[in-house]
Amino acid sequence: MQRITVLGATGSIGLSTLDVVARHPDRYQVFALSGFSRLQELLALCLRHRPQMAVVPDDQAAQWLVAGLRAEGLHTEVLVGEAGLCEVAAAPEVDAVMAAIVGAAGLRPTLAAVQAGKKVLLANKEALVMSGALFMQAVRASGAVLLPIDSEHNAIFQCLPGDFARGLAPVGVRRILLTASGGPFRQTPLASLQHVTPEQACAHPNWSMGRKISVDSASMMNKGLELIEACWLFDATPAQVEVVVHPQSVIHSLVDYVDGSVLAQLGNPDMRTPIAHALAWPQRIDSGVAPLDLFAIARLDFEAPDEQRFPCLRLARQAAQAGHSAPAILNAANEVAVSAFLAGRIRYPQIAGMIEDVLNQQPVLPLQDLEAVFAADTQARQLAQHWLQQHGSDATQGRR
Ligand code: NAD
Ligand code: MG
Repeated sequence: MQRITVLGATGSIGLSTLDVVARHPDRYQVFALSGFSRLQELLALCLRHRPQMAVVPDDQAAQWLVAGLRAEGLHTEVLVGEAGLCEVAAAPEVDAVMAAIVGAAGLRPTLAAVQAGKKVLLANKEALVMSGALFMQAVRASGAVLLPIDSEHNAIFQCLPGDFARGLAPVGVRRILLTASGGPFRQTPLASLQHVTPEQACAHPNWSMGRKISVDSASMMNKGLELIEACWLFDATPAQVEVVVHPQSVIHSLVDYVDGSVLAQLGNPDMRTPIAHALAWPQRIDSGVAPLDLFAIARLDFEAPDEQRFPCLRLARQAAQAGHSAPAILNAANEVAVSAFLAGRIRYPQIAGMIEDVLNQQPVLPLQDLEAVFAADTQARQLAQHWLQQHGSDATQGRR
């Protein structure tokens, strides 16, 4: 029986994780759940999965949740804030931690799970992008088992031999081919991108996801973050990772070997597949995902990414090459830009504009410790806020 903490239980990945877990009550038991804003949903999840602990953002939320739990006869202990998240991530009773908080907020709790030597199911790519070398050092130091949940990285993991941890060259890998759907704006006329709305950006053709990653998928910043994520997870250089636009999202990524063999992992676009893979690894369990119907899919298309259409991909590749604090700066500026876009304060093309300006303004520095990571993150957010004051307006004006 594995005891599991789900950080970000109320989100898209959190809910998919609990769906898989609930299919296998003989294998998995929920130890702790966390939620941030959707407290009603968190209460419902606690009633269904009966965790020993739950984590909420503040005391007021804790009082509300405790009252709801006690009214139903549940004795779940309720913790608060980042300290509470770190506690349930590192608790001695826990075997595996699903790191599914979105953005930089997930870094400390995810690292707490890593430092405690847990099996860490990594969905929170921003944590690894921000702190790359330090994060991977912590994995090696603690002996944590790091399993990628991002569908592309999970696919690559499945296409690599078990001993790839020694590096890609010894096992004969030439390139990693990272697939991208191209998102909702793959064919939108460039001039129309000025006027696209948050709702259009969040309407992904193949995947149902949280709003932040949906905007990242539309801008292809998601693929840029994934490029950086792949470099850390698989010890690759940015030049070894090629992005391939594949609109059907059936091939989740590929590994190209020196002998000309190319291995791919295919499946329906449903995150329960990588989640079930990582939960049970090295075994296999039912995920609830329908079998792949190749006849219904009929064809698979591929095209090169258009960097004029997707400038965020270029910016991410530059940050990957610059290394040190550049990915943390990129990530922080992107988080500010995406929330400003979702709030209607900037137009869609301004996301890339803001990130580029912040990257040009902020010096790239070595990241010797976690404090340096957060210092880079804070400075980038300040520069981004300043940019917003100068350039941001109500983006809905003029759209009508
Ligand atoms: P989501 O917005 O649906 O859920 C985010 C979760 O994080 C929620 O439970 C929310 O309560 C919690 N949260 C938000 N802000 C928080 C804060 N400040 N402190 C603590 N908790 C906070 O997002 P999602 O789509 O589930 O994505 C989660 C992570 O997984 C992201 O890093 C994303 O990039 C990654 N990911 C998601 C998918 C997908 O299909 N949804 C695929 C690959 C990777
Ligand atoms: Mg992905």
